[in-house]
Amino acid sequence: MPELPEVETIARGLAKRVTGDTIESVWLGQKKEPLKSPASEIAATLEHGRIAAVRRMGKNIVFDLEQNHVARAPSPAKSRKLNRKQKSTQALSTTQTEAGEGARPTHIPTNPKAQWIVHLGMTGRLQVCEPEAEIAKHTHAILKLKSGRELRFVDPRRFGRLSVAQAGDFAASGVEPLEIDLDRFISLFRGRKTPIKSALLNQNLLRGVGNIYADESLFRSNLRPRRRASTITRDQLEKLLLAIREVLKEAIALGGSSISDYVNSDGEEGFFQLQHRVYAREAEPCLVCKTPVKRIVIAGRSSHYCPKCQK
Ligand SMILES: [Zn+2]
Repeated sequence: MPELPEVETIARGLAKRVTGDTIESVWLGQKKEPLKSPASEIAATLEHGRIAAVRRMGKNIVFDLEQNHVARAPSPAKSRKLNRKQKSTQALSTTQTEAGEGARPTHIPTNPKAQWIVHLGMTGRLQVCEPEAEIAKHTHAILKLKSGRELRFVDPRRFGRLSVAQAGDFAASGVEPLEIDLDRFISLFRGRKTPIKSALLNQNLLRGVGNIYADESLFRSNLRPRRRASTITRDQLEKLLLAIREVLKEAIALGGSSISDYVNSDGEEGFFQLQHRVYAREAEPCLVCKTPVKRIVIAGRSSHYCPKCQK
């Protein structure tokens, strides 16, 4: 499952590719699970939207859209949900006239802050490709862009979710770990009797810290995953916050070099990996003290730690 650094990297890659482009038409598949908002609402929000920005919020990829409603030549309903066979001809004929070179300046921004929110789930991918590129199996959405390219959402396991929000009101729960200040961070754990590992994974507290990065951050700050959050001192929490930031930033930096592979590929081979120090290294020697790394299960998730380095 893509974690925060992967989502950040993917969002940055998409921002480079599609910022400034305009969504001309939208095709949505028949499967219901990927659509968190009604299909008609997604199509109506996305069509004619100019992509002003693409960014990560928690583990979501958020497209900020400047909604250009066309004053004349209203979008025909048929272009909203196109059958793949009709797609190319109809979409091109309606949109090319609307977008004609300055001939009809009829775009009036009426809703500058609509948002398209994509959660990749386990296996979701966003592809930017040429229209003639073969449509992958499990493609659930195709956005035709003014530049001629297509933005496609592919998700074999269908845990990914597409939704829209109006007037920029989408707010992911929790606080961004890369933005939170120390006092706020400390206050998240005050009086919390749960294991620190569970608290780190709680998306209502911190946004987007997943299993791997929680284990790696706890190792770097010498804290055991089972340690009760409320017993951790201020100094240790400061160390933990620094470790979380360091781990996430390293992973984001690593991701920068492989992003083009990832966004365009059909497989996961472009996925980058942080050099894990404890995660998935059960029974292997700790990189600091050579003690075998232990694996325990907390709230159904594997946790890895060094019994000597982490207290
Ligand atoms: Zn150790």
